[in-house]
Amino acid sequence: MPTATLTRTTDPQPAPSRLSVAWTLSEVRWAATALVLFLLGGLLQLTGAPPLLSWAVYLTCYVAGGWEPAVAGWRALRERTLDVDLLMVVAAIGAAAIGQVFDGALLIVVFATSGALEAFATRRTRDAVRSLTELAPEQACRLDDDGTGTVLPALELVVGDRVLVRPGDRLPADGTVLAGASEVDRASVTGEPMPVDARVGDTVFAGTVNGTGTLTVRVDVPAHDSVVARIGALVEQASETKAGTQLFIERVEQRYSVGVVVATLALFAVPLLLGADLQSALLRAMTFMIVASPCALVLATMPPLLSAIATAGRHGVLATSAVAMEGLGTVTAVVVDKTGTLTDGTPTVVAVLPAGDRSPDELLALAAAAEGPSEHPIGRAVVTAARDRGLAVPACTDFRAAVGRGVSATVAGRSVTVSAPQDTVRSGAVRAEQDRGRTVVEVRVDGAPAGHLALADRLRPAAADTVAALGGALGHSPVLLTGDSPQAARSLAAGVGITDVRAGLLPEDKVAAVRELQARGHRVMVVGDGVNDAPALAAADVGVAMGGIGSDLAVSSADVVVVRDDLATLPALVELSRRARRLVVQNLTIAGLVVVALVTWDLVGHLPLPLGVAGHEGSTVLVALNGLRLLRRRAWAPAA
Ligand code: ADP
Ligand code: MG
Repeated sequence: MPTATLTRTTDPQPAPSRLSVAWTLSEVRWAATALVLFLLGGLLQLTGAPPLLSWAVYLTCYVAGGWEPAVAGWRALRERTLDVDLLMVVAAIGAAAIGQVFDGALLIVVFATSGALEAFATRRTRDAVRSLTELAPEQACRLDDDGTGTVLPALELVVGDRVLVRPGDRLPADGTVLAGASEVDRASVTGEPMPVDARVGDTVFAGTVNGTGTLTVRVDVPAHDSVVARIGALVEQASETKAGTQLFIERVEQRYSVGVVVATLALFAVPLLLGADLQSALLRAMTFMIVASPCALVLATMPPLLSAIATAGRHGVLATSAVAMEGLGTVTAVVVDKTGTLTDGTPTVVAVLPAGDRSPDELLALAAAAEGPSEHPIGRAVVTAARDRGLAVPACTDFRAAVGRGVSATVAGRSVTVSAPQDTVRSGAVRAEQDRGRTVVEVRVDGAPAGHLALADRLRPAAADTVAALGGALGHSPVLLTGDSPQAARSLAAGVGITDVRAGLLPEDKVAAVRELQARGHRVMVVGDGVNDAPALAAADVGVAMGGIGSDLAVSSADVVVVRDDLATLPALVELSRRARRLVVQNLTIAGLVVVALVTWDLVGHLPLPLGVAGHEGSTVLVALNGLRLLRRRAWAPAA
């Protein structure tokens, strides 16, 4: 007997084979038992054994294949829902009641087999989701102060620990390389085929695989908060949600099932009253009940969407719910934020332009003091610039941030603000910086203009390709929304091929822009990173947050999180969702057509029971397996 249940706890064993995974499912074991009994019964019948014996074997087959669905159906019934499984069991018992023991047993076996395949399909998607949680290794080698190594569970590492990562090891935590040089293969986490260099100072992620060098890594993030752990947790959460289509189907399913039962009773009673014989009336009614049941319809929606969620998760994109995964494919307009989304969000101060007789260093030091507590990329850039120049930066009090506008604080008794310029800038030097696509902020001291700082931000390498690919997929180019000045925004937008630019927006203006697109009939995807994007992300049909640079608020307002800020995943994600939706439609069509065809056949002609069973269960299995196609590697097609 296989021991697949044990492989989870012990790490280095090979992955269990599909067959042994299947055997852990009770549905599979009972279906196999029912099949063996069914064959035995047939054999006894053929060899002319006493009928009582073959009957007894068939009835055991009923019990083996039918008891699980019967119990489940009975439980559902007590909660006042009608389970399609129960209909199948009733049909089989009905068949036995009119002497069709063989047909009934066949029904049970086919039904149990399709149930087993369904369970297997579900298990495969669940495993795919779960494997994301288990990417990080269980053990780590911690370096102690005296230079010795202690092996301990990765979960027990704390921030600041130093770990030794040998060649070929999986990294136990998110952290920074302190010593050594190597290359790291992220394929298991992001699907990126090329290993990336890891040198001193680089950030590395748990779950990735170390190449040929030995690394000493400082743990920066507790294990449960590492990127893989968050991916795993979010994907697992998402796989427990249901898509809109599925909720709709489940609502309809109940009434539909009751309708099937009523129609079955009518189909049995009416011909009987009109003088038909009991046997044929019952057989036809039961065949009807089987083929009209919505088994395949119920399975049409979730497997494709769950497979898509798992596949996207493997590439570092988290859809936080099935609704989000379903919605991505229906998007007709994309809105992107500038700073931190199209640009990498780590601007640097490139010019300091004092207005009066202050020196540039004095201006920068004042601005840096006011920005001290700021989380905004601009704030951090200003602080870094001051520190790089070795300036003494005083502490500030009364710090206040106005989202999307700037900051104010008291520095050495004076009120200092750093924010978007309040009036049109007249200084030629400042205008020139803006025209070059640079972000300009104004510094005021006690309300009087004190000068400007110009900041340059790099476009993300994938920005232009992503904009082009999204434009191609939707038929028109994304819209750029930003709180920055029109000049800076336009010059940057031109570089990536965006023409529709709306600048100088406050957070509520971004929401208004989204609503306006929605009012024109668009389904809008918003891509953003900042606190100032959070309201727009929430207002969007699908909100996408940059997970790395993104603020917590943006991430928690989003439906989709791009974990490592890789913009290039977005077109692939939209395409994946569209494929999932196409599979859903395909599945619903298959399921619907088979029901209509078999029901019609049964009503107008004479549909043999075994054929009805085979057709009905066949479509159920087909639909369940169809959804798994999105788990394959080829399902993810990033923009070239
Ligand atoms: P985006 O919409 O492009 O992501 P934000 O809305 O975050 O940009 O910022 C919009 C504008 O507000 C910036 O261009 C800048 O002028 C100003 N601003 C925001 N935060 C700060 C800050 N901490 N310091 C100075 N200026 C800021
Ligand atoms: Mg931003």
